[in-house]
Amino acid sequence: MDRKTERVIIIADIEGSSGCWNYRGSSFLTDEWAEACAGMTADIASVVAALFDAGVKDILIKDFHRTGYNLLKERIDPRARVVSGYKRGPVPGLGDPGDSEGLLCIGMHASSGSGGFLAHTLTSRIGKLLVNGKPMSEVALFSASLGGYGMRPLFFSGCPVACGEARDAVRGIDTYPIDKSRGPENFDAAAWRKGLCAAAVTSLENRTTARYVPEGPFDAAVTMRDGAAAADTVARRWHMPCEGDTVFISAADFKELYNALIRICYLTPFIERFLPIGLPVYNLVGRMGLWWVRKKMSVTFT
Ligand SMILES: [Zn+2]
Repeated sequence: MDRKTERVIIIADIEGSSGCWNYRGSSFLTDEWAEACAGMTADIASVVAALFDAGVKDILIKDFHRTGYNLLKERIDPRARVVSGYKRGPVPGLGDPGDSEGLLCIGMHASSGSGGFLAHTLTSRIGKLLVNGKPMSEVALFSASLGGYGMRPLFFSGCPVACGEARDAVRGIDTYPIDKSRGPENFDAAAWRKGLCAAAVTSLENRTTARYVPEGPFDAAVTMRDGAAAADTVARRWHMPCEGDTVFISAADFKELYNALIRICYLTPFIERFLPIGLPVYNLVGRMGLWWVRKKMSVTFT
């Protein structure tokens, strides 16, 4: 019999966590965001504890929301390594994936235009993203960026729409939904978290998913939510073709596609050039935000 997966990466986001109930909950330095950080941390801490109890040997957690500083590390089992902030490579945003075997995505959201809870793809500035004619969600992007390192996506949690997208993108992936339709006052976070942990542990035995390595070439159509003027700005900036509110990318392989999307979403040529200097400053801002959360929650920080 196949052994259980023992080395995993958790990509953690906030929108599909048990602490985030509206847009302000995902927005830097709001009271709601401080609450959401606590909820997201509690979700991840519970899953980490359950995975270690189930025999997992190595857990790398990548905080993937906005600045990448949302998780209160001191509340998570110190055997797990929490990677905060934005890393330039080798995997964009995530850094060095090490020798993990399986990917668990927790607290996720659905793609732009899907109608899911706080749905967006990489940034809310993208209204729709089609790759070779089909919508592409973040779970597909993350799974593909890690597929080349031998990792298989195993588990996904987010709103029901996001879970449906994950199952469409990765055949056989285990999913566990969070239903926010009845509001936080009618939501039993402890009971939901218990189910989340059980489902995450079960996914260690998932042998149905394959590494997600989509073959190029790729033609992507990126529709900007703010319309033609926003698309024109992006297209001129990066010398990409554009028609109306849509910018087009032609990429030979996935890496080229992902890099082009990151440029559109987060960068300008100026920022890209000065990223080695700018990134530590950006990460410092993120770290200071989290200090503010800790102070607010009267937690002794380490
Ligand atoms: Zn997020």
